[in-house]
Amino acid sequence: MKKKICLALVMLISFTVLFPANIFASDFSVGDILGDVLNTNVRTYINGERIPNYNINNRSVIILADLRNYGFDVVFNDETRVSSVTRNYGREFTPIEDIADNTERAGTVAFQYVYTDIIAVLNGREVESFNVRGRLAIFFGDLRDFGDFEWDGEANASRLTLNDGRIVITPTGRRYHFYNCRTVGENWQYITREEAREAGYTACAICRP
Ligand SMILES: [Zn+2]
Repeated sequence: MKKKICLALVMLISFTVLFPANIFASDFSVGDILGDVLNTNVRTYINGERIPNYNINNRSVIILADLRNYGFDVVFNDETRVSSVTRNYGREFTPIEDIADNTERAGTVAFQYVYTDIIAVLNGREVESFNVRGRLAIFFGDLRDFGDFEWDGEANASRLTLNDGRIVITPTGRRYHFYNCRTVGENWQYITREEAREAGYTACAICRP
């Protein structure tokens, strides 16, 4: 009896490890219409460079693959259906040019977006994703682990400034972080990666510096 329960438990654990639940899983099928994409005058920027954006539920949405032009690696695994985004500090910025301005009245319906079974994972964290005109899209705000957002009301723009790669430590912790990690308070100082390693600091699992 005990053996049976153990086996069941092992199978359950293996199943959970092999097939992690998609936290946004739903009863939708690929291609089902989820809602409207609205025309918007809002513009989105990464490090001062414009990135094409859409509007869903009054939130800015970007195309995941576009991040390759803004210092990120985007890798798709066809087997797991996961598209993973990580920061690549060595990657050259090649911002998309000639982005068309909205000519329609803001707030009117542009087209529909549809359900996708592809899971978007940003720095190891799964976020909501959907299909916008055949491409995998995410909310712009979900990039918050990678830097600081600022709303520019005058320009009607949402601006993301990416972490520069420098790391910090706090007086008491044994981990190194980006300064804007949610576990880091006011009291921090920069440290080089070499110094941090030599002093025995390890990378924070939350901000993943
Ligand atoms: Zn951290």
